Amino acid sequence: MEKIKMTTPLVEMDGDEMTRILWKMIKDELLLPFVDLKTEYYDLGLEERNRTNDQVTIDSANATKKYGVAVKCATITPNAARMTEYNLKEMWKSPNGTIRAMLDGTVFRAPIVVKGIEPNVKTWAKPITIARHAYGDVYKATEMKIPGAGKAELVYTAEDGTEVRELIHNFTGAGVIQGQHNLDDSIESFAHSCFKYALDTKQDLWFATKDTISKKYDHTFKDIFQEIFDADYKDEFEKTGITYFYTLIDDAVARVMKSEGGFIWACKNYDGDVMSDMISSAFGSLAMMTSVLVSPNGYYEYEAAHGTVQRHYYKHLKGEETSTNSVATIFAWTGALRKRGELDGISELSRFADKLEEACLKTIESGKMTKDLALITTIENPTVLNSEGFIKAIREELTAIL
Ligand code: NAP
Ligand code: MG
Repeated sequence: MEKIKMTTPLVEMDGDEMTRILWKMIKDELLLPFVDLKTEYYDLGLEERNRTNDQVTIDSANATKKYGVAVKCATITPNAARMTEYNLKEMWKSPNGTIRAMLDGTVFRAPIVVKGIEPNVKTWAKPITIARHAYGDVYKATEMKIPGAGKAELVYTAEDGTEVRELIHNFTGAGVIQGQHNLDDSIESFAHSCFKYALDTKQDLWFATKDTISKKYDHTFKDIFQEIFDADYKDEFEKTGITYFYTLIDDAVARVMKSEGGFIWACKNYDGDVMSDMISSAFGSLAMMTSVLVSPNGYYEYEAAHGTVQRHYYKHLKGEETSTNSVATIFAWTGALRKRGELDGISELSRFADKLEEACLKTIESGKMTKDLALITTIENPTVLNSEGFIKAIREELTAIL
């Protein structure tokens, strides 16, 4: 078979620990034999971030702006223990945070659904994708403990010095207060990313807040989404045969539990934090979750939702066998390759991505899987493979499909 040609490079962001080991295996076994892989390589491994004073992370985000599509391996976000372990010059910021801030993107997380790994909610036949707004609200709040009787107010002082005041509460005893904010710009970017991703993936978009109670704050989110939808996306949604639907957050929760899945659920920051954990654990495994950062300008960065699987890496270093699940990392590659294929009009490349995903699912459905899945599968007597054996089994399926 002739290798599939690419025209534009993918931005390749390598990472750390066990996922870095898997990264190479995936490329060697599942990509390089079939695709004339064109990438612009950035090493976001912690050592290189430290050596370049994190410039490599910034460079990789700029490259994503240039080419449009990136694929990222999981990376260590340093903490005190990592400072000593890697002898770091500084406690470098989370690469994901840096990249997200530079691309102004929204993260969409979706489970990979496969027969044999059944969701806890029986009706969920298709994945539910969570889009979490990643700015403001309670995550940028200012709080105060109120010691006793007194008046608390919200005060806005305009640049010309004029003031607007709203009473929060006339305290007669001790209590607490909190000031939250958000920005129209940020909500608009969030809305554009959500509408774009819904069109891209041809899925309905749900958005929910508590606007009946929060008549100005949450209502602003609802209004901005509706205005942007009506102005920029309504016709395209109709043409694509998908819908945008707004409802109250409590109604959304009730509907989600009864749904069959197959839609995107856009959430405010806190709702997204909580609901994405609920959705991912109900679907089975963090090792079967993909994640894509979508910018309002149409840049995409694909990755696995899990971390660098540190515990497995230490076993690997000791020469012990590991059984680490590579599916989410493989799906990061297929997501990126498919998108590159779409943008460059290389349908062969997109088809290859589909087939590689199919090969992963078939491997698991045939009973061959890593230990994390073997523990939760409904398939009887699964064959537990090690990290490399699992990737080789996928290669066999892939070769058969191709
Ligand atoms: P983790 O890498 O997600 O792993 C936590 C545990 O979940 C593992 O020990 C393992 O359980 C299980 N697990 C996760 N992914 C798996 C896979 N692919 N196959 C099999 N089991 C899997 O989280 P962590 O160990 O807490 O964090 C390690 C590093 O990752 C940290 O330095 C953190 O900063 C970083 N991190 C990066 C990202 C990112 O780049 N997007 C996200 C999160 C965390 P068992 O040990 O029980 O087998
Ligand atoms: Mg959380």
